[in-house]
Amino acid sequence: GTKEPMTEATSAAPVRAHDGNGEFIKFAEVSKRFGSNVVLDDLSFSVGAGERVTLIGPSGSGKTTILRMLMTLLRPDSGTISVNGEYLFHEERGGQLVTASESHIRRVRSKITMVFQQFNLFPNMRVLRNVTEAPVHVLGKPKDEAAERAKELLALVGLGEKLDAYPSQLSGGQQQRVAIARALAVDPDVLLLDEVTSALDPELAAEVLDVLRDIAKTTDVTMLLVTHAMKFARDVSHRVLMFNQGKIIEDRPPEEMFNEPRHERTQSFLRSVI
Ligand code: ADP
Repeated sequence: GTKEPMTEATSAAPVRAHDGNGEFIKFAEVSKRFGSNVVLDDLSFSVGAGERVTLIGPSGSGKTTILRMLMTLLRPDSGTISVNGEYLFHEERGGQLVTASESHIRRVRSKITMVFQQFNLFPNMRVLRNVTEAPVHVLGKPKDEAAERAKELLALVGLGEKLDAYPSQLSGGQQQRVAIARALAVDPDVLLLDEVTSALDPELAAEVLDVLRDIAKTTDVTMLLVTHAMKFARDVSHRVLMFNQGKIIEDRPPEEMFNEPRHERTQSFLRSVI
């Protein structure tokens, strides 16, 4: 259709504001393809401040791509992505995609952190140092202040006794809990969780999910989660978005999504994972 200003993009999916700031994260008409593989097809959705939104859908449906765009690890082919009213990517009038300036991106990005499937800790640093590294060296926080906060966070994730351990001395579940503490240490506005329990045995996964449940209950950080742990998604999410073939085909509160999925594709997907 005719190009309206990007901020006026019409949403293909129903958008439910969690609170007064319903568009803290905003994707408007975002498309992304790899070669002939159309991963995101004119996708629009937004996430409110403090909202926790789970992305579900078949493998390859573009969920991780969305998180990676928010981390500016990937750029869309077209469309607009903004966080807290600030653009990461937007289109000029002629349809040219513009990436925000480096300093601008650095500022927006400093408020967004991601936890990965493979914990990605710094192997040569002790646990405490893993958590203080970014606050000290990226944010310029005084060392003692950063250490104080890191100890609080490590206690929160149940690792107050492991400050001096190296990652290789910890279980996978413990390593992932360090990664969560590390992500929170920069005091993010947005926490992105990409299949954070997929590499873990069920018991260790449960420890990690318990920690995340606590964090969801006690902080107001905005969360975007990709997970196959459906019970967890149901417990912590305000909304669940079902992706299929580059589109959001269902956007609903978890009870509704899991109890009475409307879309036939959602029904078959949920049957396959629960
Ligand atoms: P999901 O997280 O839903 O499983 P992804 O976002 O990881 O899906 O991937 C979506 C599609 O994009 C997949 O088909 C994947 O193979 C493809 N893809 C992702 N990253 C790249 C890349 N860097 N180069 C080529 N194809 C990619």
